[in-house]
Amino acid sequence: MNKKIVFVLIIIGLVAVSAVSAQNSLLLNNNDDSMYQVSLMQAFMHGEYNGVITVGDFKTHGDIGLGTFEGVNGEMIVLDGVVYQAAADGSINVMPDNETIPFATITKFDEDGNITNITAKNFDDLTSQLDKAIEKYGTNNMYVIKIKGDFSNITVRSVEKQEKPYKEFTEVAKVDQKVFNHTNQTGTVVAIYFPEYMNELNMHGWHLHFLSDNKTTGGHVLGFNNFRGSGQIDEIHEFSMILPTDDTFVKMNFTEDMTNKISSVE
Ligand SMILES: [Zn+2]
Repeated sequence: MNKKIVFVLIIIGLVAVSAVSAQNSLLLNNNDDSMYQVSLMQAFMHGEYNGVITVGDFKTHGDIGLGTFEGVNGEMIVLDGVVYQAAADGSINVMPDNETIPFATITKFDEDGNITNITAKNFDDLTSQLDKAIEKYGTNNMYVIKIKGDFSNITVRSVEKQEKPYKEFTEVAKVDQKVFNHTNQTGTVVAIYFPEYMNELNMHGWHLHFLSDNKTTGGHVLGFNNFRGSGQIDEIHEFSMILPTDDTFVKMNFTEDMTNKISSVE
């Protein structure tokens, strides 16, 4: 075959391959963004609660996310570029740019797909519907789903700010976790999904934080009953992470398998 024809065939082949893979994917935009993570789950579980980055710097990496603040000072929900704290006293506060963050995840929200008319009896029902929604796009990607709607009731938790020396997070969750039950809530759940292979780097599977529309209730979602609403899906293929640089982190031992401890505090 002459070289020119071979070249043309190769080009046709490449175009065909990319057309097929485009069909099998969500409507990916050209500037597909990155999941940005502060520290890692293992370090957090071991009690690394020192701030790594300021809220001001963190916000430059996206507009939706979740995490916590220096000393595990409550639960973080990032929505529409605003960094909220669901504090242990039950209040919701907008955090100032000079506050620092020991562990969190953020991305820039781009809608790649959606789920309409969701009705879910409870937490497990919703997460299995989210699993189904992402299945066709691939469970080995990362996802953020912005879920809006009404809950007949929802149970959220927050955590008391810790004093040094910091204890491991399993201990914190036992003694300093505050649980709140709220009825008839309308609001947004930020649901982040990490694939199985990222277990211990973060929580694999779904991690949900809630914020009410009137910005009066919120936290890490432990359970709920009767949700009705819809979701917008952001599919993510890039990941970057900033590590702590303090002595606590540098000397930390990461040989322990933390899988059971992580699932016990989810
Ligand atoms: Zn959480």
